[in-house]
Parts: sequence; C-alpha cells; structure tokens
Amino acid sequence: MIPKQTIDEIFEAAIIEDVVGEFVPLKKRGANFLGNCPFHNEKSPSFTVSPAKGIYKCFGCGKAGNSVNFIMEHEHYSYPEALRFLANKFNIEVEEEEQSDEQKEAANERESLYIVSNYAANYFKKQLTETDEGKAIALSYFLERGFREDIIEKFQLGYNPNEWTAFTDAAEKEGYQLKYLNQSGLSIVKGEKKFDRFKGRVMFPIHNLSGRVLGFGGRILKKDDKAAKYLNSPESEIYSKSKVLYGIYYAKKMITQENICYLVEGYTDVISMYQAGVENVVSSSGTSLTEGQIRLISRFTPNITILYDGDAAGLKASFRGIDMILKEGMNVRVVLFPEGEDPDSYAKAHTTEELKTYITENAQDFIRFKTSILIKEVGNDPIKKAELIKEIVESIAIIPDQIKRSVYTKECSSLLDISEQALINETNKILRKNVTKKVSNSEPEEFPDFYDIDGPQETQQQQETNTELSHWERDILRLLISFGDKSIEVETIDPSTSEPILQEVAVALYIVSSIKGDELAFENNLYQQIFEIYSEYLEQQKLPTHHDFVNHTDKNISQFVIDVLTDKYELSPNWATHKIFVTREEELLQKGVFNTVYAFKLSKLERLIVDNQEKLKASMPYEEMVTLMKEQAKWLEVKTQLAAKRGIIILR
Ligand code: ATP
Ligand code: MN
Repeated sequence: MIPKQTIDEIFEAAIIEDVVGEFVPLKKRGANFLGNCPFHNEKSPSFTVSPAKGIYKCFGCGKAGNSVNFIMEHEHYSYPEALRFLANKFNIEVEEEEQSDEQKEAANERESLYIVSNYAANYFKKQLTETDEGKAIALSYFLERGFREDIIEKFQLGYNPNEWTAFTDAAEKEGYQLKYLNQSGLSIVKGEKKFDRFKGRVMFPIHNLSGRVLGFGGRILKKDDKAAKYLNSPESEIYSKSKVLYGIYYAKKMITQENICYLVEGYTDVISMYQAGVENVVSSSGTSLTEGQIRLISRFTPNITILYDGDAAGLKASFRGIDMILKEGMNVRVVLFPEGEDPDSYAKAHTTEELKTYITENAQDFIRFKTSILIKEVGNDPIKKAELIKEIVESIAIIPDQIKRSVYTKECSSLLDISEQALINETNKILRKNVTKKVSNSEPEEFPDFYDIDGPQETQQQQETNTELSHWERDILRLLISFGDKSIEVETIDPSTSEPILQEVAVALYIVSSIKGDELAFENNLYQQIFEIYSEYLEQQKLPTHHDFVNHTDKNISQFVIDVLTDKYELSPNWATHKIFVTREEELLQKGVFNTVYAFKLSKLERLIVDNQEKLKASMPYEEMVTLMKEQAKWLEVKTQLAAKRGIIILR
C-alpha cells in the first residue's frame, strides 16, 4: 500500500503535459497541447492535453483521464504500478515495504512478468561483467565485435551461463516462481524437467517505451549448425512481438528531434548505429514489419528510412513493408548498403560522418527503389515493363494524400518514360476499386478545442443514456464541478424574519440546498453518488475543487468528471482559464444555474408523478395506496410551487 499522503504528493507533482509528453510529441495550441492519439490510429491530431485541468482527452476515440490514468492506459500498468512509475519520474520517495511471499503471489500476473524480466536482465548483466566465464566468453565477444563498454552497459547486454539450469536455479533461489519463469519464456518447463531457454547465449533485453524489460533476444556464441543463431522470448502477457520495436526506448528522443526513424534488421545493427552516433534507430527484431510497429514509429515521426544489407535475398519481400508504411500515410525511403555490408559492419568500418553521408546520399524513395530492383527483370520486354509500372502504381495508389500521390506520379512518369495521364488513369482505377471496399473513416479533420461549440458529437453511449432527465442531472454536476466556487446573487428567505432577501451565494450551496430542500435525488446512481460526495464536502464547510474528483480513486467518478470537464460546451471559456468575471458572464452563470436547477426539478417531478400514476393503476392494499396518493399530492404541490418561487431557496 502506498500511503494516501504520498499518493496526493504524486498527483500534485505529475504535471500532465510532462507525463504525456514523454510518450506523445505535443504541440502547444493556445492554452492546451495537441498531439496524435496514442490509443488509436489517426492522421490528424485530435488528442488534447489541458494543463489547467490536469487532464488529457482524445476527441477521436474519446479516451480521457488524468496523469495516472494515462500511464495505466498507455503502459498497461495497474493503479499502484502507475503511481510508482510517476513517483520515480518525479523523484518522490515511496516507502516500499519488503514484499512478503503472499504479496509476491498476489501481485498481478503482468507485474510478476515485468519483475521476473527485470531480475533476469540484472542477472544476465552480472554474469557478463562479474563472472570469469562471462568475462572470458561473452564480454570478450562483445568487445571483439567492437561494442564499447558504455554501450554494453546502456543496452543492458548480458550473458546466460552455459549450464542447463544456471539462471532458473538462481531465480528460484531468489523466490521467483517457476510459473512466471516459464510464462516469460526465460525457463522452459517440461513436466519435472526445467532448463534455461537461453543457455550459453549473450542476451539483448528488449524494452518498452518507458524502459521496462519485456523480453529478450539471445545470440549463440559458438558456431553450431544445429542451433539457431538467435533465439527470442516467446509471446507473453507483456511481450507482443508485433507491437514492440527493439531500441525504441533509446531512440525515441532522437526520432522526434531528427524527425526521422531508421529501421534496421536486428539487435547488432541497432547497437552499432547507436554507438556510431545515429541514435534514431530501431529494428523489428525477428518478425517482418507489422502495422503496430509502424504506428509506434508514427507517434514520433512520419518519416521512416529502411536500411537493408546489400545482399539481402528477400528485397522483394520488403515491398510489403513499404506498402504498409505508405498506407499509414508515412514517407518511406530505402538505403541499400554495398554488397556484403550491413548497417552493423558499415558503421564499424566507417566514421560517423561517412555513415551519415552514406545514408543521406543513398536514400531512395520507394519508386526508385522498387524500379531499381524490378528493372533487372524487365530488359526489353514490354509486357514485363507494363507489369513493373502496374506494380509501382499499386504503391502510389495506397498513399492517402493526393498531393503526395501526384508528386510520385510525376516522378514515376519521368523515371519510366510513360505519360503522366496514363499513370493517373491507372491510379484512379485502383482507387475506385478500393473506395468501394473501404468503410468510411470518421476521424475529425480539424482539432476541436475544448470549447468548440461545433465540436465532435457525443458518442453513441452518451446518446443512449441521454434522456432528458439524465441530461439535466449531468448538467447539475457539471455546474457544481466547474463553477461550484463561484457566487451568484439569489433570493433567499431570511430564517429569522421569513422575509425574502438578496444574497451572494456560492453556486455549490445554491444547487445543493435547492435540491436537498425538495428532497429530490438523482436517478442515475453514479450521479447521485457524486452529488452525495459533493454534499458531504459542503457539510464539512469545504468546497471541493475539480481536482478532488478528477483524481478520485473510484475510476467511474474520475472518468465522469473528466468527461464533464471536457464537454464541448462551457458557459464561457474565460471563466475556466482566466477566472475573470465580467458582469455579463456573472449573469450568464446565474441564469445557467437557475435554468438547469429548474429544468432538472421539473423533469424529475414529472418523472416521479408519471411513475406514481403507473403504480396507482395496480391493485394494492389500502394503506399503500394512501401513501402513494399523498406522495403524488406532494410532488404536484412542489411542481406548482416550482414556477412561482423560481430561484428562491431556503438556506439551512
Ligand atoms: P554475424 O556476427 O555472423 O554477422 P550477427 O549477430 O550480426 O551475426 P546477422 O546474421 O548478421 O547477425 O543478422 C543481421 C541482423 O539481424 C543483426 O542485427 C541481428 O542482431 C539480427 N537478427 C538475426 N537473426 C535474428 C532473429 N532471429 N531475431 C532477431 N534479430 C535477428
Ligand atoms: Mn552481422
């Protein structure tokens, strides 16, 4: 358990734009920040961060929350994990109790896998740098490969000793359960037998965006034709190959800065390039490029350059990856290294300058790249040439952006000596075919501000629950949360003289007494719950701020409040941002509050009356009927009174 005081401290320190900014490049937009949503695929940014409110909200997919919610959602952390992550980031000390065996067991599965993986990375590192076997066999291997020691340390490289159960035994001795050693794939368990998956291999830990170890790649040291040169962790609760990029944790900063990402084949290419000073480099490690990986890159830059070794047999197979990148609306270039060289060997044999120059001078756009590969087969054969053109037009047609398409069409036209019009016709044919297949894309084109009147429509779910009454209930809460501390002028009854007087009253007090005075409750349970929490604050002579609700431990409550705070309509944007009150706005607020309370009451009373009428239709004991009828009379009376004493309340 993390003490409440520490939790408060974390919430206070976790500045939303810093928290989100670590994962999503943000641009300042007025009082807010704007970026591409990390939770769904989008081409135009609709993900907003409001420093004033301490929350984020995506107007495309509707995801919203505070700093802790963001980390939970983004990193798939539990609540305490997210708190610890933020505490660490903002240098807040969390008194961690030593975990008991029961607690270890109770910790959720994902966390256990993270913990085991982290233990393994440390263990492998120790084996590499602190044991005779590790130093003699593994560390010397890395050094011979030309890896510098600071780089070996930075990438947390390691070694799994060449014994059947060295790692598994050590981990079990430390209290790590075989279940998780098995699930993480670090150990292989077969009935009674268990052994290390990565026996005798040098280890490359694979990190997620925030630097946690998810899995490993292990390279064999001795030449062995029977064993695979590289082994990778199997898929697990925390390691999904198709969504992870090796090196992304180390590369993300430079990718944003340089606005380009280099994609290489594997571990050693990433490390060598990084060591040579090209830090914006990642690899898809062991799988062919996936959509998830491309999206991961697209959060940092729209520009990808793929680096291939010169003798790559499957260059044609790379076409699929290129098309996938184009489809995401990103720009793709390709660099081919000279025969027999890969990024690793090239980086080693050349200076940083030479490497960088080689890459910039040899980067081809996809049309040149495809043409240069396919043209070898064409020769003078016109049919083959037509096929080549078709092949390239297929790629052009994939590009979502029309201007880019026309640029590439021009280039293709001059490169292959074919009329532009013919290419355009061909592209259009493909586009028309695709359009009929496509489902419409509903992403908003423009960024709607928090206060945008014509902002995105409410989601389906919101619409379904939006009966008139629940609309007003929601609006009451909205006024309480956003404007509870502002004051309005209301007519009240002086308890001593029973005379009506004009008085400045906090919106909170007005709304709460006015609703409680008529003994009305909210239909929606969540709303009622929030209303009660709010009232309790008032009873203790305190005014809750929206922070008390935004950071509420009940996720439903905080989520609701966040939604309310990011509603497309506000009485006036100036209140929230400048806390300035001009007369007109005061009047507006006053009117808004009166009207909403009135509308809520009317709506609620009508509901109560109709419900009662329904109940009275059934046969029932006499006493019960009397009670219902008395109730009915009371509601009717309150309803008649409502119009007459509109706005007047009795303060308690
Ligand atoms: P060598 O020393 O023989 O060149 P290497 O370790 O550099 O071996 P390569 O066979 O050259 O490996 O592989 C090229 C790149 O692909 C390297 O970056 C390597 O780390 C990576 N790689 C190879 N096989 C796998 C695999 N199964 N999973 C992930 N990455 C791999
Ligand atoms: Mn190699």
